[in-house]
Amino acid sequence: MELVTGYVMQPIQDVFPLLRSPKKIFITTHHKPDGDAIGSMMALYHYLTKKGHHVTAVSPSEMPDFLAWMPGAALALNYEAQPTESLEGLASADLIICADFNDFNRTKHLEQALADATQPKILIDHHLFPKPVWDYGMSIPEKSSTCEMVYDFINLYGDNSLIDLDIAACLYTGVMTDTGSFKFPITTASVHTMVADLLGRGLDHTRIHEEVYDSWSENRMRFLGYVLIEKMEVFRKYNSALISLSRKDQNLFKSQNGDTEGLVNYPLSISGIRFATLITERSDEVKLSFRSKGNFDVSAFAKNYFDGGGHFNASGGRTKTSFIETIAYFKKILSDIHPQ
Ligand code: 5GP
Ligand code: MN
Repeated sequence: MELVTGYVMQPIQDVFPLLRSPKKIFITTHHKPDGDAIGSMMALYHYLTKKGHHVTAVSPSEMPDFLAWMPGAALALNYEAQPTESLEGLASADLIICADFNDFNRTKHLEQALADATQPKILIDHHLFPKPVWDYGMSIPEKSSTCEMVYDFINLYGDNSLIDLDIAACLYTGVMTDTGSFKFPITTASVHTMVADLLGRGLDHTRIHEEVYDSWSENRMRFLGYVLIEKMEVFRKYNSALISLSRKDQNLFKSQNGDTEGLVNYPLSISGIRFATLITERSDEVKLSFRSKGNFDVSAFAKNYFDGGGHFNASGGRTKTSFIETIAYFKKILSDIHPQ
């Protein structure tokens, strides 16, 4: 007898009949959204609006400044600042689309509202092990980014010609940020084929790199210098490095929302360092970000020890214990498991 343990959503193609007439569509992404989160949400926003639907896009928390230039970004609601409008959008929606996360708890304050919603729920995401709560969707961990999957979704619908420069800019941003500017092993030929298509439409990719990576405040640059000198510990024995930032550290240099973005990657540029961790103290929890090079699976690490998950080489988790206790717990695990 065959044991069926896998959770199977209906394929995304089964959503197409539902989209034949104009619908009210609610789209959301994860808390503390990154380039792929906002890029995929806004690309879907533009595409579905163009198709005649009425779309409400809600970010569970504030969008970082380095993404505020994105076409239509001002049209997205921020749940933390606009909870009433956001929940109205959810309540009146015919369909719900979730992009770039696979567990309602990744939306933080929207978790319960999404769990309670009775409308059909559609998932477009590339994280491992989706929770069995979506009716339709695509969950493909081999994909570079949710933006690449939104591109596939549009093509599957036969709408390649509807990809305009706004949609292209959103899609490019997510693929660029989730692949580390086309560096990570997940950067497949299909990524470059997609990018070639977007550039063929006249997309100004240099401007996007500048908006995302070269638009730092002077304070942010000095904050990085401080962090690397004062806050980074290197554990050669374990090929690992740790950056830990208390609330107080984060308030130095007038740090802004988004200023800690990407910090976790810096230690991986040290020769021989294969595992990097960033521990940040937040008001209600301690957040951990993990990155690796090579074959240390940080998704399993986050899942096993820090109530988290993510991808093989990039993951995150959290604790409810104190910042100091979290650092001690992390170091104990490091000495127990000896990452290689
Ligand atoms: P970050 O360190 O940028 O917060 O997260 C890195 C990657 O891991 C992202 O793709 C993010 O979606 C995922 N991730 C971060 N935290 C969690 C978590 O608590 N659970 C799961 N399943 N994935 C996470
Ligand atoms: Mn992503």
